[in-house]
Amino acid sequence: MEFFDKLGKKASEAYKVTADKTGKIAKDTKIKLKISDLKSKINNLYNEIGKNVYEKHTSNEEVAGVEKEIEEKCLKIDEISSKIESLLKESLKLRDKKQCPSCYTEMEKNVKFCPNCGEKQEMPEEPIVVEDEESKEKDVIEAEIIEENNQENIQEKDEKTEPEVEVVEKEEESKEDEVN
Ligand SMILES: [Zn+2]
Repeated sequence: MEFFDKLGKKASEAYKVTADKTGKIAKDTKIKLKISDLKSKINNLYNEIGKNVYEKHTSNEEVAGVEKEIEEKCLKIDEISSKIESLLKESLKLRDKKQCPSCYTEMEKNVKFCPNCGEKQEMPEEPIVVEDEESKEKDVIEAEIIEENNQENIQEKDEKTEPEVEVVEKEEESKEDEVN
């Protein structure tokens, strides 16, 4: 009997591990999609900056505001890059990998020296309820994504709202009455 009990327990544990792994792979796929989306945003910005620079080159006079436009786009690239960096860290965690701090080569968590540059690697500490931390970080990233979408919505709204024209017609009418 005990044998079957143990077998059942093992099977359900194995199921748990598989389900957990599948969940992680799905999360990692989502993160990778987000990263490639952000990378294409950066490429668009590179394009626009290039256009701005060429505008400057072809025009004999100062192109109004072009410097500011370029600077703003560069800052946007900085912002997106740091988002990509935190997503990459999240992806490493999900795949149980680490990265060489010196050359950024990916490797298994228990590797002591970088296979690429030989740099000594920090060893992972024993996990103490890592689950909570991971879900917290996941929430942060999701919140960031939501926030970003909201920002886009707000920008669209701003473009649509136009200042309302004040109604002054009534006053004019009453003036006409006085003349009559
Ligand atoms: Zn290295």
